[in-house]
Amino acid sequence: MKEVLLLKCGEIVLKGLNRKKFEDRLLGNLRRRIRAVAPCQVEIHQSVIYVWIPEDADGDAVTEAVRRVFGVATICRAAVCEKTLESMQAAAEDYLADRIADARSFKVETKRGDKKFPMTSIQVSQHIGGELADKYKHLQPDMHTPELTVHLEIRTEHAFVHAGPEPGAGGMPVGANGRAAFLLSGGIDSPVAGYMMAKRGLELVGVHFFSYPYTSERAKEKVVELGQILTRYTGRMPLLIVPFTKIQEEIRDKCHEELFTLVMRRFMMRIAERLAVQYECGALITGESLGQVASQTMPAMAVTGAVCELPVFRPVIGMDKEEIVRIARKIDTFETSILPYEDCCTVFTPKHPNTRPKLPKILEAESRLDVETLVGEAVAGTERIVLG
Ligand code: ATP
Ligand code: MG
Repeated sequence: MKEVLLLKCGEIVLKGLNRKKFEDRLLGNLRRRIRAVAPCQVEIHQSVIYVWIPEDADGDAVTEAVRRVFGVATICRAAVCEKTLESMQAAAEDYLADRIADARSFKVETKRGDKKFPMTSIQVSQHIGGELADKYKHLQPDMHTPELTVHLEIRTEHAFVHAGPEPGAGGMPVGANGRAAFLLSGGIDSPVAGYMMAKRGLELVGVHFFSYPYTSERAKEKVVELGQILTRYTGRMPLLIVPFTKIQEEIRDKCHEELFTLVMRRFMMRIAERLAVQYECGALITGESLGQVASQTMPAMAVTGAVCELPVFRPVIGMDKEEIVRIARKIDTFETSILPYEDCCTVFTPKHPNTRPKLPKILEAESRLDVETLVGEAVAGTERIVLG
């Protein structure tokens, strides 16, 4: 049976004059993501997006891909049939057979987009509701709290039959709010942070600091894998791999141990900002959560944030670890995040990190390093991988 997905846009309908731009962005994102699965036609009429699924395509795979596209508020998966009572009833019985078998009560709800159709919506609902109630004796008509609502939509060319909407991914279309550099480590928090900001319409450019041989090829592969999982939500995403070994060794050799992590994090922010400018990003994204570790106290974040001018988005700042883990499981990054490979942050970790750093002390430590050259070399040596 031919199927279609009927999608309602979320917040983008609120955007007034920008609406067209937002809708175009969403359509483009949908087309790109669906194309990888099946050759579906995607079009929009009066704020409803139609994804036409060819009969020989894998409808489950198309629906699964659409479930991960931000900007879609609701998804109705429907059977397409002719605009006659017989064919709508047959489609309902066939397409919704499992739902009909499971439900104890039901109603039929009809929407008539085609006002030339010779019966009113109520007449259609009454007719098909009556036929179904006669045929399926276990089904009680219930107009108020039915277990199953059979939806019939009579449009210009076809009729659609479905059992109601399911929630879509929500949020805004990726790219609708611009682009940001996303600091992706191998941990649990940063993939969640990237997911959350992509959901708010940001296109991501991943940045990973890699300290070979202190961190292994396997550690890098893990990060690539995390980025790859995120592309199910973001679409194509560049991942920039920054060589970080020399910087870490310089800090180890020249700075007091207790300042090590903060000086290192300031290098990360500087380099990320440099790359952000190259890639026309308007912000940085990190997975910091207040008080989670020594480098994430308020004074520590003031010191790390002070090296860059771009805004730093920290979407998990107010979340407990369990809340972050719940999202990590939902988006399927958790199992990869907990693979036991080293991270560059755990290389040369100080025994007594400074949780209340003073900027002048940090600046004094950094004056012993050739910051500009180190940053320039790291940026120049950055490798680019495209994921998705
Ligand atoms: P995560 O679980 O995301 O690794 P974390 O709790 O381990 O976070 P930190 O190691 O202090 O925290 O890192 C804080 C943030 O800095 C990370 O969420 C990430 O955005 C960024 N970051 C840390 N290490 C790296 C790295 N090697 N490459 C890129 N970004 C990093
Ligand atoms: Mg980490």
